[in-house]
Amino acid sequence: MTTPQLDRLSAQCQRLRLHRVDAELSTLLEQAAKKDVSYADFLDDVLALELRAKQEKHRTMRVTMARFPFQKSLETFDWKFQPSIEPKVIKELATGRFIADAENVLLLGPPGVGKTHLAVALGMSACALGLRTMFTTAAGLITSLGKALYENRLEERLKVLTQPKLLIIDEIGYIPIDRQGANLFFQLISRRYEKGSILLTSNQSLGAWGEVFGDTVIASAILDRLLHHATTINVKGESYRLKEKRRAGLLRPAPTPEPAE
Ligand code: ADP
Ligand code: MG
Repeated sequence: MTTPQLDRLSAQCQRLRLHRVDAELSTLLEQAAKKDVSYADFLDDVLALELRAKQEKHRTMRVTMARFPFQKSLETFDWKFQPSIEPKVIKELATGRFIADAENVLLLGPPGVGKTHLAVALGMSACALGLRTMFTTAAGLITSLGKALYENRLEERLKVLTQPKLLIIDEIGYIPIDRQGANLFFQLISRRYEKGSILLTSNQSLGAWGEVFGDTVIASAILDRLLHHATTINVKGESYRLKEKRRAGLLRPAPTPEPAE
């Protein structure tokens, strides 16, 4: 192929924003000539290449925008260590159907059992599906709502928090929430109710949420909306962090249960 034609093709790719095709133009043309592929197959390969590149770029962008504390996937989750979770249930959630239906997910359990890992992994799956996702801790969320209220831009903040298709709220229950915080949290839950999914994690059982929110009435109003369309997963077992320490010999082995008489 003549250089002027190659230059023209490259310029056209750039105008059409087909950047990956542009970068691999010569290779694509050479390979097609060598393998003697049909016109349809060539076009198929070229378009598929650009589509994959664009999808990957969007996924990366969504992952960055989601502000995950770390990046972990379901592939690195050790299901054997966590028999209280049915992989089938989590894999179903990873299809994103619950997000399409604006349903919620509650991951409950003691520290270190993998709640945040699973929340991030499901968030990453949502990003891969092209769904806008946002990750926040309960403490960070309540601080940001309180600040917005103080600065007279609560409405604006609530709108921002209503936009993502999936909002992940991590660590409800570690820090007690005051009355104003509980009120603001309730407003957010009401806004998203039946409109956008919430995935939240908590180290407290739902029965203890009255104490977490310092008010049983508001806690039950929050739970009423959250649980109306929701999957609740109770994660049990030992902390994975402690298991790793034990393996490294930093802690004594877990006590074995007394044999029954
Ligand atoms: P939690 O949020 O329940 O306190 P995390 O999700 O933060 O626990 O888990 C603590 C650490 O242990 C993280 O680094 C996480 O990736 C890891 N972890 C927990 N459970 C598993 C598991 N079943 N397989 C692989 N890694 C795990
Ligand atoms: Mg956690």
